[in-house]
Amino acid sequence: MIDLRSDTVTRPTAAMLEAMVSAPVGDDVWGDDPTANAFQARLAEQTGKEASLLFPSGTQSNLVALMAHCERGDEYIVGQNAHTYRYEGGGAAVLGSIQPQPIEHAEDGSLPLEKIAAAVKADDFHFARTRLLALENTIGGKVLPAEYVKEATDLARQFGLATHLDGARLFNAVVATGSSLKQLCQPFDSVSLCFSKGLGTPMGSALVGSQELIDRARRWRKMVGGGMRQSGIIAAACQYALDHHVDDLAHDHRRAARLARGLAVLPGIEVLSQATNMVFARIPYEHVQPLAAWLKEQGILIELLYATRFVVHRDIDDADIDEVLAVMDSYFRQY
Ligand SMILES: *Cc1c(COP(=O)(O)O)cnc(C)c1O
Repeated sequence: MIDLRSDTVTRPTAAMLEAMVSAPVGDDVWGDDPTANAFQARLAEQTGKEASLLFPSGTQSNLVALMAHCERGDEYIVGQNAHTYRYEGGGAAVLGSIQPQPIEHAEDGSLPLEKIAAAVKADDFHFARTRLLALENTIGGKVLPAEYVKEATDLARQFGLATHLDGARLFNAVVATGSSLKQLCQPFDSVSLCFSKGLGTPMGSALVGSQELIDRARRWRKMVGGGMRQSGIIAAACQYALDHHVDDLAHDHRRAARLARGLAVLPGIEVLSQATNMVFARIPYEHVQPLAAWLKEQGILIELLYATRFVVHRDIDDADIDEVLAVMDSYFRQY
């Protein structure tokens, strides 16, 4: 199978599994898993924050971040297509009693400053208390411009809001821009990072922020069932990915660009965007289902959820890109 549905489908390598198996472990709920502790210390250092905390998933890391920033009756400003708002089961509202205030994205995935400003509520008991601005980088594969991030987070601070970044794919932004992880995290009070996407671990995300925020987050993590025991096994995979897989994301970006170029010359398909490891394309409505079925017959999986999306990742090589283009070409040739 050539699986382009998401970069979450990446499998751990033999070397990563070896690192997991040989990691010294303890009981992290008691705070004595040495591998988890070392990983969290290193990640805090590398992101320029005081502390970090390991989570089984990015959904939980984001949820706990929102709950650590906001109280019952608070609201957070977020994009309509943001993962925390759209793809996390409404957890902030359901479990945190936090009201989302979604706003429309600009074409580049950013939230226009004037819309953010207009969404902040006055201090009046009619309104939920606006407490937090949450951005996402990368979003739809696109890297948020650094200048924009600075302006948006400065604006949030002027209104007294905290700032959170869903950086599930922030390492893609690191590799695409050449900025350091620290530079990209600096404007935010907290950042959630995923290791199970393009970095290839079987699970694992982390939240970084001030010691005070992480202390609050640890309590919420326990409450939502994320207190893990020998979590060093997961931390070892994340550590391995940090050491060995970050630079490889450049191959994904190069291959995604090549896939986009190849798709663009096919009849019947319009490439809408390609950025970092993702390609979005428009296919005439009547072709979407038959094309997906045809691709599946040839062992190729794509995501049709909200646009035709092709995600390139470390388990996809150059020959796979050639094959996808050849199979797509053979489909459109029939018409
Ligand atoms: C994948 C992802 C997450 C977290 O997802 P999990 O599957 O829960 O780890 C959060 N935000 C974005 C943008 C993501 O792509």
